[in-house]
Amino acid sequence: MKICDGFDVLVIPQERGAYYLSLVSTKTKTLLIDTGNLDQEDRLVEAVHEAGLPLESITDILITHHDRDHIGGLRELRRRLPRVKVWAHVDEIPFIDGSVPALKIQDLDPVFDSLPEKKQIFITQMKKIFPSIIAPVDFGVKDGDVLDFDGGIDVIHTPGHTLGHICLYHRRSKTLIAGDAMNIQEGKLIGANPDFTHDLHEASVTLKRLSHYDIQRIVSYHGGVFEDHPNQAILSLTH
Ligand SMILES: [Zn+2]
Repeated sequence: MKICDGFDVLVIPQERGAYYLSLVSTKTKTLLIDTGNLDQEDRLVEAVHEAGLPLESITDILITHHDRDHIGGLRELRRRLPRVKVWAHVDEIPFIDGSVPALKIQDLDPVFDSLPEKKQIFITQMKKIFPSIIAPVDFGVKDGDVLDFDGGIDVIHTPGHTLGHICLYHRRSKTLIAGDAMNIQEGKLIGANPDFTHDLHEASVTLKRLSHYDIQRIVSYHGGVFEDHPNQAILSLTH
């Protein structure tokens, strides 16, 4: 899915729905935002090829947050791309590199017995998968940083879903890359998924930070592309 010249959204089909990864490329650098699930790297490579680029063109990977569907392919990509530079918010790095257990495990493990069966299975799976996906991060970013990439990409710290969740604003195309801060349901913009969000109240409050940006479209990792008056739609989600 082409947003504009040099900006593709890679659609990685899943059992239910799809993941929408962003790929921004210039003459000298290519940035991939998030990496999909473990063992889906081949599908990702295919999607990069469909965007007209070899995998080897990827010079940088930026992670919006440490959930397994966002960092699952990171370790394998590091193996295939030994020179790639990996970026994430400073608060998120200890979770991505495995210095501390994933936030959802920290949140839900103490109340495991009282969880519905679906969530118990989810946490058990997470504990199994995480040791094989954690990977080092090279550079930390924080709120207000502007990445020197294709005319500038703003880092917006949007904690709530996780502690170091970030949204990104691609200045040239006025596109907000929302990660899991927002989703799309039946064509409508909605907030973070309440089932899998660390602090739902904070997740909605921090969306206010996005009002400083002139947003032409939103790329939601689980929802796709949203173009129907994005700034207004975001405002209606904030508290
Ligand atoms: Zn996600």
